[in-house]
Amino acid sequence: MSAEIIDGKKIAEQIKLELIEEIASLKKQGLIPGLATVLVGENPASATYVRMKEKMCNEIGILTKSQHLAVETKENELLELIDNLRKDNDVHGILVQLPLPAHIDERKIINAIPQNKDVDGFHPMNWGKMMTGEDTFLPCTPAGIQELLIRSGNNPERKHVVILGRSQIVGLPLANILVRKAPGANATVTICHTGTKDLANYAKQADILIAAMGRPEVVTAEMVNENAVVVDVGVNRVEAPETKKGYCLVGDVHFESVAKKVTAITPVPGGVGPMTIIMLMKNTVKSAKNFITS
Ligand code: NAP
Repeated sequence: MSAEIIDGKKIAEQIKLELIEEIASLKKQGLIPGLATVLVGENPASATYVRMKEKMCNEIGILTKSQHLAVETKENELLELIDNLRKDNDVHGILVQLPLPAHIDERKIINAIPQNKDVDGFHPMNWGKMMTGEDTFLPCTPAGIQELLIRSGNNPERKHVVILGRSQIVGLPLANILVRKAPGANATVTICHTGTKDLANYAKQADILIAAMGRPEVVTAEMVNENAVVVDVGVNRVEAPETKKGYCLVGDVHFESVAKKVTAITPVPGGVGPMTIIMLMKNTVKSAKNFITS
């Protein structure tokens, strides 16, 4: 048997069309949603992510203010920029691309982003709201995974979801979102990490297995059951001298063997990635709308 491929690109495209309509209607009310992107340094992967986000903004009608700072930018200069963006009425969302250079305290920067423009959903106050189930900006990758599951007909309600990884941007918030007593959630969630004894034993029990470890192709066919839906969050660069770039991108799941066994699976690329970007757009539109009502 071969698994159904969950097409994140296609699902993100549907959401894109919905957002285009929403933005057009906001424009009629005189409001253009705005996103400020902040990139510090020359990390090529970060630069690519920012470019992709800005491109999507342009395609759907979100105004972008792009700030590219030198790698030697001081922490207080970045804080000053964030404060200026806080006061900028054309900016409804502020995205500071992580990771930041080592001399800048990432937590300090995240905490400085005003809560009402925190479209990445990383500010501790927004985390608190997420934990208590209040309306807030949910972190984009976990929110995108939930949306992907629901829209692909794999609603996590009453399912056993096993998440491999407990990071603050994927595993932990995703577990919180999916365990909620709410439609599209209400799952039983197990979180695994490097301290987990016999990871495969847990992975095998999953109705929905979510791999977010950043370890290339470590989830193999022996670790999954036939009925599982597998979501591969991992994006890992592996050497591929035969390609033009000299590397290729693979997930945390050994796609070829696992896809032969399970019920459904997301590809890398084209699975979770497009959902992350579109959820950032969704959060930016949500933020702009909040400005009308506040
Ligand atoms: P991270 O901060 O490095 O966290 C990795 C997590 O996986 C940690 O909790 C770690 O456990 C756990 N882990 C690592 N190796 C493990 C192993 N062998 N067995 C069990 N657990 C293990 O990574 P992240 O930021 O969450 O990102 C994870 C992956 O997703 C990366 O490949 C990243 O590029 C990708 N990603 C993709 C998107 C997207 O939009 N497609 C978005 C975000 C991230 P400990 O806590 O014990 O160290």
